[in-house]
Amino acid sequence: MKTILQAKNIQKQFGTKEHVYTALQDINLDIYEGEFVGVMGPSGAGKSTLLNIFSTIDLPTSGEVIIAGENIVHMNEEKLSDFRRHQLGFIFQDYNLLDTLTVKENILLPLALSKVSAAEIEKRVNDIADVFGIREILDKYPYQISGGQKQRTAASRAIIANPSLILADEPTGALDSKSAANLLESLSALNETNQSTIMMVTHDAYAASFCKRVIFIKDGRLFMEIHKEQQSRKQFFQQVLEVLASLGGGHSDVI
Ligand code: ADP
Ligand code: MG
Repeated sequence: MKTILQAKNIQKQFGTKEHVYTALQDINLDIYEGEFVGVMGPSGAGKSTLLNIFSTIDLPTSGEVIIAGENIVHMNEEKLSDFRRHQLGFIFQDYNLLDTLTVKENILLPLALSKVSAAEIEKRVNDIADVFGIREILDKYPYQISGGQKQRTAASRAIIANPSLILADEPTGALDSKSAANLLESLSALNETNQSTIMMVTHDAYAASFCKRVIFIKDGRLFMEIHKEQQSRKQFFQQVLEVLASLGGGHSDVI
């Protein structure tokens, strides 16, 4: 199995010399091609901090992160922006669409600077729009579509350049339950058919149940991980709930 991401002994501290706050410690993690990994844990556990480090938005205080064979910790800003564009796809809670562009233009934005031909771009946009069920709204503007459609547009944009890794932080956080289910089913289908590698932070056990593996962070450390394997989504959902219960405290918002 091909390793897409390797995190070695990650530690992250915030604050000043006098008041150091350790947000992450002893994080060792491998993610393989074709995985759909969920990251859960109580509020303040360090989930977003970890995702920001993998996103190259933030640096670890110590430790190494290798994504698609490249060590991202010691890259200069120019190489990093190139790396982000080619290797990473992002899905945020608040969509981050450009209001002045249509859905289609938003989706193909990551290819704007690439050498991919117009015909190939057209084909990719249509294929992805089919996966996410947004073919009919390609010519609309963000203000004309629902939150669920915005998030499916954002997810389409995240995948269009065939990144090595898609990183999502609470992608269903602002969605109603039907739109959330819709997005998760599409992400899951994408993962199954394209072998897309996805890492998704969520506090929602239902969302996590779509993943193949869920890792739990508590107080900045990896606490446990579970694998779906032959279980149904519903069985895995129960298992996620059981682990959350054993984590204890500070996550009244888990369901
Ligand atoms: P989660 O996403 O699991 O809710 P975060 O990763 O956002 O948690 O935060 C983990 C801890 O690190 C929290 O205690 C938070 O206050 C702290 N933290 C996060 N970002 C910063 C920052 N830029 N400066 C100082 N402390 C931070
Ligand atoms: Mg967070």
